[in-house]
Amino acid sequence: MRIYSTVYDDLFRVYGDLHWWPADSKDEVVIGAVLTQNTSWKNVEKAIERLREKGLNSLAAISKCDVKDLAETIRPSGFYNQKAERLIALSKALMERFGGIDSIHDLETAVSFFSPIKGIGQETLDSILLYALDLPVFVMDKYTARFLDRCYGIRGGDIKKDVEGEIKDVERLKNLHAMIVQISKDHCKKVPECDGCPLNTKCEYYGRERRQNAFLHDKD
Ligand code: SF4
Repeated sequence: MRIYSTVYDDLFRVYGDLHWWPADSKDEVVIGAVLTQNTSWKNVEKAIERLREKGLNSLAAISKCDVKDLAETIRPSGFYNQKAERLIALSKALMERFGGIDSIHDLETAVSFFSPIKGIGQETLDSILLYALDLPVFVMDKYTARFLDRCYGIRGGDIKKDVEGEIKDVERLKNLHAMIVQISKDHCKKVPECDGCPLNTKCEYYGRERRQNAFLHDKD
């Protein structure tokens, strides 16, 4: 059974194409992927807006930026000193080696460049590979693990590898992650809001909860 295609279709019926990632350029995707660590997207948006106002929303501009100026500009994103240092280091290395993000085309080159860079963990790396470089990888995060576990009973194993084995199309991989983020914000939160969730008729967790409640109700 192609379970991840089923997940995709179920979510697509609810959300359609979300056209993610919210950025004006590939450079902004990379910048946003670093800024979003340990903070909400709202704060990242504020930081990116400030970068735009100062003309610092490109890797070329950031590579030449003073660390204090950059830290002050991205202050809304939190951990701004550390993020400023990391963004400058990443931008300098990328500009020196490739002259710009558009010169990176294949997965092997991209992984070997980004992986050793301080502050680029797996999720950040995958976000850059998928949304900035259009490479076919799946972005796995804690929301995805929680949603797939609850709704489809998918747990353990290598989910990222399994999704990539089943879904090869880059646009579908982009939208799958976007739709999972969306349902995690809308309904499948830490404490799930199942009533009104568009997937509750097929959700394993919800079905279990309902059966349990009915059983307890019968015993009363
Ligand atoms: S029904 Fe509840 S547990 Fe299932 S996907 Fe929706 S919010 Fe998550």
